[in-house]
Formats: sequence, structure tokens, C-alpha cells
Amino acid sequence: MSRGAPEASAVRPEGAPALEMRGVSKIHRQADGSPLTAVSGVDLTLAAGETAAVIGRSGSGKSTLLHLAAGIETPTAGVVRLAGRDLAALGDRERSRFRGRSVGLVFQSFHLIPYLTARENLLLPARIAGISRLPDGETVEDAADRLLDAVRLSGRAGEPARHLSGGEQQRAAIARAVLLRPPLVLADEPTGNLDGAIAAPVVALLFSMAEGQGAALLIATHDPGLAGSCRVRHRLDDASFARLPDGGDPAAGAGR
Ligand code: ADP
Ligand code: MG
Repeated sequence: MSRGAPEASAVRPEGAPALEMRGVSKIHRQADGSPLTAVSGVDLTLAAGETAAVIGRSGSGKSTLLHLAAGIETPTAGVVRLAGRDLAALGDRERSRFRGRSVGLVFQSFHLIPYLTARENLLLPARIAGISRLPDGETVEDAADRLLDAVRLSGRAGEPARHLSGGEQQRAAIARAVLLRPPLVLADEPTGNLDGAIAAPVVALLFSMAEGQGAALLIATHDPGLAGSCRVRHRLDDASFARLPDGGDPAAGAGR
């Protein structure tokens, strides 16, 4: 419809899943040159609005899987389609631009720029991608203010990120991840650096922000409680990937 700014949104072919991984494997080359299989045989489809967890102990390949899903790493074998686009068909620059619009990333260690304000951190991906308006015409500045309010950071918007508490930093990172309305949000151990009392509301926020925008959410975690909040659960065990049986009660996977 709008011919104005085609780059402002990840154009998702009608009905395409947010994420599709088929037979995906990644073999890392270690410093001594020997191969290390980080993930193997990943088949994963995430429809729009779906939530899924990848559970596994440290070193099982969770971060590698998320990096493959985001196109940060390229698979040794298999196909990754993000919003219907085969990432291997894109050049490096095109892929990183596409990633900026199609994937929101939330990391364990927040990854905010410490000397930029909370608001500036939210706006940084839009600035880098050269996007000034969202598909519905809302300016990215208005979206940032709206989201800062939604994550209850309005009063801290002008504060440098380094002055924010851990919980506040992760709330800012969640708002940043959804600002460009990506079809997919990837969260890598999003509560790993937060203590329990702070983690619960941050998790609730992550789910509500993704849900509010119809984004699919894929969470890597070793926390069974967090995994139990997702509709679908997968386990990584020394690189091998398997879907866990669906429990009728999501809390059944919580292990508590
Ligand atoms: P997790 O996130 O579950 O802790 P990772 O995906 O970070 O697991 O790592 C999986 C395995 O791959 C680990 O053995 C790790 O040491 C190894 N690995 C991760 N990244 C690299 C890399 N760039 N080069 C070599 N080995 C790597
Ligand atoms: Mg990891």
C-alpha cells in the first residue's frame, strides 16, 4: 500500500512463519583448528505470536542457536528463514539491515550503551537503520516515549544507562527490542543477571510486549520456570535438539 518507506518494516510474505529453521547445524572451528559441533539438526518453526523456549545447560548450544536464528552466525548446514526470507540469499550488509528490522534481541547482560540515555538506547537501532517512522506512520521518537512509559521508565528516560539498575536496564533493552515491531524477538537468558524478585516482572513484561505486537518470542534459558511460561519447549543436549512433549499445564515444565 505505502510506497513511502518500504524499509520501515520487515515485509512478511502472507502467512510466512516468523522463524523457520530446517536441518540447521553449526560446527565452530576452535582455536587449535579442531571442529566443535555446537548445534545439530535443528528443525524449528515459530508462527507469528508464538512463544517457545530452548532449554539446556551451559554450553549446550543455546546462544549459538539464537545467533543462527538472527543471522548473526551462518549455519554450517541447513536453512534459516526469517519472516519468510532465506538469510543465506542475502549479502552481509543486506542481512544485517534485514536483521535490524526483523529481529529484536534481548541479552543476559542487557547490551545497552552505558553513556547513552535510556531513550537514546531505545532509538539507536532505528538511527543505525535510518528508520524515522514505523509502518503506521508513528515516529520512532513517539514510539520510544510510548514504550518507555509501557516499561515504566518514563521518569528515567534521560538517565545514562550506566545509572540504571539491572531490572531497569533489562526493561529498557526489552523496549528497544520491540521498537521497530520485529516479527521475532530472541531473548538469551534474559533473567540470568537478575535476582528472583526482579526477574518475575521483567519476564512478564517481555511476554506482554511481544504479545502486544504479535511478535513470536524465542527464549534461551536454563530456568525451567521461565521455559514453562512458553507454549512450546525444546531441549538442547550437547548440540542435539528435540521438542519436549507439550504439557497441558504450562507450569508442568516449571519443575517446582
Ligand atoms: P550455551 O549458550 O548453551 O551456553 P553456546 O552456544 O554459547 O552454549 O556454546 C555451545 C558450544 O560451542 C560451547 O562448547 C562453546 O564453547 C562453543 N562455542 C560457542 N561459540 C564458539 C566460537 N565462536 N568458537 C568456538 N567455539 C564456540
Ligand atoms: Mg549462552
